[in-house]
Amino acid sequence: MSKKLKLEILKQENNYMKFLLTNTEPAMANALRRTILGEVPVMAIEDLVIYENTSPVFDEYLAHRLGLIPLTTDLKTYKDPASCCGGNCSSCSATLSIDESGPKMIYSSSIKTTDAKIKPVSGKIVIVELMAGQRLRVEAKAILGKGEDHAKWQAGNAAYKFLPTLKPIKLENQEQIAKDCPKKALEVKKGKLTLERPWDCSMCMKCKDKGAEITQDETSVVFRVETNGGLSAFDATKKAIDLLKEKNKLLSEEIKK
Ligand SMILES: [Zn+2]
Repeated sequence: MSKKLKLEILKQENNYMKFLLTNTEPAMANALRRTILGEVPVMAIEDLVIYENTSPVFDEYLAHRLGLIPLTTDLKTYKDPASCCGGNCSSCSATLSIDESGPKMIYSSSIKTTDAKIKPVSGKIVIVELMAGQRLRVEAKAILGKGEDHAKWQAGNAAYKFLPTLKPIKLENQEQIAKDCPKKALEVKKGKLTLERPWDCSMCMKCKDKGAEITQDETSVVFRVETNGGLSAFDATKKAIDLLKEKNKLLSEEIKK
C-alpha cells in the first residue's frame, strides 16, 4: 500500500505560493504543473468593438494589447462560454470599455468595467498615448479561457523540483560548509551537518564537493506557483487540483462501463 500523498504550504502570498508534495511521483507533479499552465481558466478580453481609434496604434495592435492585460477573475460567477451561450450573456462574459480623449497617456486604469470583480490587475499598464484631438472609444468583452488556447488566458507559471536530501554527516570544517551554503539551507545540528531547509537548497553541489552526500528524493516535490494576479496562486492551484479530480472521476466512470 502506497503512503498517502501530502501537501504542505511552505510560503503563501497572494500571487505566489511554494508548497511541498510528499509521497508523490514525477507524473503526478507534472500533471499538476501542466494543468496550472494550460487548463485553469482566467478572464481575458476576447472581442472588441472599436467605435473610434485615431491614436497612432492600429486597431489590430490595440486589440492584441488589450487582450494581454491580466484581469481579475471570478470563477464562481462566470461560466465557461462553451457550456453557456458562447460569450453573449452576463453569465459567461463581462463588458469593459474605454472612452478617452488626448492629450494624455492611456493606462489600464482607464478601462471601465460593468462588474467590479472583473478589472485590470494593475492600473499602470500602458495602452497608448493620445495626442491632442485623438480619441479612443472601444467596448470589449472578456471571457474565461485556457492557457492551452492562448497565452493571454494562462493563469500563471508553475515549476517543481525534487526535494534535496542529505543524511546528517560529520565532516571536517562543517561549520564553514554550512556558512558557505548560498541558500543557507545547511546547519550543524547535534554535531552533524544537516540539511535543515531542503526546499531552499538549489543543488549547487558546493557542499557535495566537500564530502556531503546530497541527493534528490523523487517522491517529494517542491512546487512553486506564481500567477499574474488574475487568480491568487492558492486559487489557481486549487482549481487545477479540482480539474484533475474531475478528469480522474470521468475516467473511472468510463472504465466501469
Ligand atoms: Zn452565456
